[in-house]
Amino acid sequence: MAKIGFIGLGNMGGGMAANLVKAGHEVHAFDLAEAALAHAEQAGCLRVKSAREASADVDAVVTMLPAGSHVRQVYADCIIGAAPSSAILIDCSTVDVASAKTVGAAAAEQGYAMVDAPVSGGIAAANGGTLTFMVGGPDDAFAQAQPILAAMGKAVIHAGGTGAGQAAKIANNMLLGATMVATCEAFLLAKKLGLDLQTFYDISSKASGQSWSMTSYCPVPGVGPETPADRDYQGGFATALMLKDLKLAMGAAHDANASVPMGAAAEALYQAFANGGNGALDFSAIIRLLDSDGSQ
Ligand code: NAD
Repeated sequence: MAKIGFIGLGNMGGGMAANLVKAGHEVHAFDLAEAALAHAEQAGCLRVKSAREASADVDAVVTMLPAGSHVRQVYADCIIGAAPSSAILIDCSTVDVASAKTVGAAAAEQGYAMVDAPVSGGIAAANGGTLTFMVGGPDDAFAQAQPILAAMGKAVIHAGGTGAGQAAKIANNMLLGATMVATCEAFLLAKKLGLDLQTFYDISSKASGQSWSMTSYCPVPGVGPETPADRDYQGGFATALMLKDLKLAMGAAHDANASVPMGAAAEALYQAFANGGNGALDFSAIIRLLDSDGSQ
């Protein structure tokens, strides 16, 4: 089994590192927060004193950090040059495509194999080892990363070259944000037109308006499968994280000169909802913003 450095043991990284331990790997864990380190130690990780130490003398380094600036800094100061050149470098954080490409190029220049491998699935999937990884990087780097990622997820998909994992992640989440807004609008319109919402669900979930946002993550309490809507929009995928991903999508679309009017509309709505103090609520709670007279 491999020796793996793991940097960033927060909501997602904590569970992922624990699953690497369960798979028999020796995990050298580091986080700036004491509570996260203590939690990882309880899960069987070996606590180390710095990100540089986590990178030293290992077969792989996994990072799960908040944003691109953290990843750029940790790679420049603590991984490149500190990790053995034979180590596979795996960044699972959600970051901007430009940062993924910059860091990937810097790593390759120093002879490292690296992949960007952001995830789909939230904290429950991280704890349960059922994440989906979207992986960008050269074929040989993907082959080296695959068994390590497989120990933390249910699917590991090679999306293309460096940065392609991040591109897939933000394009997917832009689609998710836009379809969630559209699904909420459709339920609210149906209600104003006098339809029973369960009846509308029964029809639309089997008709051409069907989407994951409707059938797997219905934003209306008491309709469809159990979702965060049935728990007063607690838990699930936070509005603040959806907004982060929509902003990444808008930045990438700008750089690529892509036209994304629906994504831009979703970003504006999620920004307004977050500004109203709702950043911690599940993203399907956006129905409350759209429900102008509070009928839902
Ligand atoms: P989090 O804030 O809970 O965890 C990040 C951890 O990184 C923290 O414990 C922090 O102390 C640590 N950290 C920051 N800078 C560091 C440094 N220089 N050295 C060592 N540790 C450092 O965030 P999270 O919810 O675990 O999310 C991590 C990433 O996963 C983000 O990029 C996020 O967008 C992505 N993501 C999150 C979810 C989710 O549902 N939470 C879902 C999919 C993707």
